[in-house]
Amino acid sequence: MKFTHRDIDHIGSLPDILRESPHKVEVLSHEEEMPYIEGRKPLIIVDREHLSKMLASLPEEQHQQMEMLFANPPKASVDTAVADGEVLPYCGGITVIFTPGHTPGHICLSLNQSKTLITGDAFVAVDGEFRGPNPQATYDMDSALKSLKKLTHYDFETVICYHGGVYSDHANERLAELASAAD
Ligand SMILES: [Zn+2]
Repeated sequence: MKFTHRDIDHIGSLPDILRESPHKVEVLSHEEEMPYIEGRKPLIIVDREHLSKMLASLPEEQHQQMEMLFANPPKASVDTAVADGEVLPYCGGITVIFTPGHTPGHICLSLNQSKTLITGDAFVAVDGEFRGPNPQATYDMDSALKSLKKLTHYDFETVICYHGGVYSDHANERLAELASAAD
């Protein structure tokens, strides 16, 4: 399994998957992200006030569950570190694109055969529009904007935003517009 980064909404079920799977599941991440996924470094919370407000708005039971999750975030050992530009031998070739910013070791994945970009949280989409990295959840905005530019050097037909859905309409152009708007 390849993890774009360690946020709870991306790796939350990892320990369960590793425990329940009948086969050995290989966990891959960028080296910079490993200490966070493995719990050797604490979970990065960019805007604690925003998080507290968000949690407070949840129904009581969910609020309690989320508090427990943040107090004791899921973690797991990473088997293999992947590097920028590395092509993984899955799905006809998946290129790792190191895109730090949202977290220190964030990666995007390019599914080369179908020219599909899996963004992780490098950027989001809202109401059908690509939007830049969410400032309330971005660890290093300068790096995040550089990473956005880096993505424009690739050729994509489809973009899958973890927050925002699947886009196949002029993906490259829209990505270029987003990157130049961030200047
Ligand atoms: Zn995230």
